[in-house]
Amino acid sequence: MKENNLAKHIDNFGDDHVGSSTETPLRIDAFELSDDEKISIIEENMRNILHTLGLDLTDDSLKGTPKRVAKAYVNEIFGGLNPIKKPVSSTFENKYQYNEMLVEKNITVYSTCEHHLLPIVGKAHIAYISNGTVVGLSKMNRIVDYFSKRPQVQERLTMQVVKELQSVLNTNDVACVIDAKHLCVNSRGIKDTGCSTITSEFGGAFKKPEVREEFLKYIQLETSFEGL
Ligand SMILES: [Zn+2]
Repeated sequence: MKENNLAKHIDNFGDDHVGSSTETPLRIDAFELSDDEKISIIEENMRNILHTLGLDLTDDSLKGTPKRVAKAYVNEIFGGLNPIKKPVSSTFENKYQYNEMLVEKNITVYSTCEHHLLPIVGKAHIAYISNGTVVGLSKMNRIVDYFSKRPQVQERLTMQVVKELQSVLNTNDVACVIDAKHLCVNSRGIKDTGCSTITSEFGGAFKKPEVREEFLKYIQLETSFEGL
């Protein structure tokens, strides 16, 4: 492919939101720099970006922006890149012998599209059928949050959540559906403010149509807790 065509291809690849693999593409030297070193390099680069855009960085309101963005990138919105921050999921024995489906729905997703670095905002719904092991409910929220805090593609996020829970729960019977808005679609490009994207991953028993149907029926149930 000629260089120009290649550049165009890479650009289109991003705009089409095509992901390349289940694993986040990290380099092997990804964690050689400390968080503080990363923050100071990103701060400098962010200063250059804002300066290039013509902004006056001596202005009181903008002075602290490069550092604030750098800290937010490393510690918060991309904090889930670092495996050290992966939530430790303590598991318990399923003492009450509950062998039916457990569904946790409406888990808030705040992620970032890796093609445009713009927000992905939505809800994740997770289900699993225990084979003897259970996790604390909030662990599912923490797992979603951890994988969301990376530059992401929604398909990959969905698969990473399922894979992690499969390994924690020691069963393939895990499913996840994510319904999210991509600000790169809603606020720029095609500017379609109404649309959202749904992705799903069904492992083990959830590949069976009746099990999948049961899960999908639960997540469609209107749950109103008004007044609680
Ligand atoms: Zn995007």
